[in-house]
Amino acid sequence: MVQPEAIYTSLRSGDRRVLSRCISWAESQREVDQAAIRDILDLDTSDDSRPTKRIAISGVPGVGKSTFINALGCRLAHKHEKVAVLAVDPSSSLSGGSILGDKTRMAELDSLENVFIRPSPTHGALGGVTAATRTAIQLCEIAGYETILIETVGVGQSEHAVSSMTDMFITLLLHNAGDDIQALKRGIMELTDVFLLHKVDDEAATKAAGPARGLLQSSINVLRPAHSFWKPTIGLCSSTTGFGMDEVENTIAEFFRKARQTGGLQENRKRQRIDWTKDEVQRIVAFAIEKQFSEHGTVERIKQHIRDGKHPLHIAKQLSLDVVQHF
Ligand code: GDP
Repeated sequence: MVQPEAIYTSLRSGDRRVLSRCISWAESQREVDQAAIRDILDLDTSDDSRPTKRIAISGVPGVGKSTFINALGCRLAHKHEKVAVLAVDPSSSLSGGSILGDKTRMAELDSLENVFIRPSPTHGALGGVTAATRTAIQLCEIAGYETILIETVGVGQSEHAVSSMTDMFITLLLHNAGDDIQALKRGIMELTDVFLLHKVDDEAATKAAGPARGLLQSSINVLRPAHSFWKPTIGLCSSTTGFGMDEVENTIAEFFRKARQTGGLQENRKRQRIDWTKDEVQRIVAFAIEKQFSEHGTVERIKQHIRDGKHPLHIAKQLSLDVVQHF
């Protein structure tokens, strides 16, 4: 029997084992686990007011996301910030793999005391993964983590989901890949607050990044920014040499300063909580429909109705009422 108060107290004290266990419950499909999580989160009355930073890191595989998270995370952690790293990876549900599963590029970060790294769940549709990640963010914050870095693989599916749970969205791009920039979907560009041309290892490499930067700038000029308080910026950096990383840190700090000062961050989080609620209702109802179809001889009844000559629209209407009744 789960004691929500005891678990909540352990979480607040920063117990990482309890944090891991809670995230596993959030990822679980079992109703008892979901109920446990609901009871624990119900005890949290912070209402999103903690001064945390939720930052999405996106980009195609190979652009250097893990290396970048390692570099940025270490910088923040060395300044005594508590840093959590989570991932949303829709492809993992297809491949059975997981980004961040191999933490070798984050070995340095992973070794630090004030850092928590959680690979993406390896099962579940994107909706389920998204719901679990939203909850995981809140759990990390209860446990005292101040910066939450959320890695998403840049294949187009997960970016919107991740931007619906973060304050700031960073997209990494290869500095010498003009084609990548042209191929970047407008939708993803519109979510992005900070574009980083990555693997610019030194001053000399900034020259090579010139054309990509120009191309990006002209694309940004015609975009509607994601936030009214922020015009998207372009930075150049290297996670392996550290070139440009001071600037990256400054940009992040400036973004959060403006976001809080203008109230944009608080407003955004409020909107996200409404969307979270809506998504959750859809998920719960969809789950109930699945359950209805796998139980109560529903499929047999549909077949019978069809044999009786009933129209699918009528059958569907009746079944919907049944789902509501069984709820
Ligand atoms: P991810 O798939 O986006 O997570 O990319 P990884 O972090 O696994 O990095 C892919 C490759 O790029 C690895 O071989 C890294 O060592 C390399 N890499 C990452 N960051 C940099 C960088 O700043 N400069 C250079 N030259 N290579 C980098």
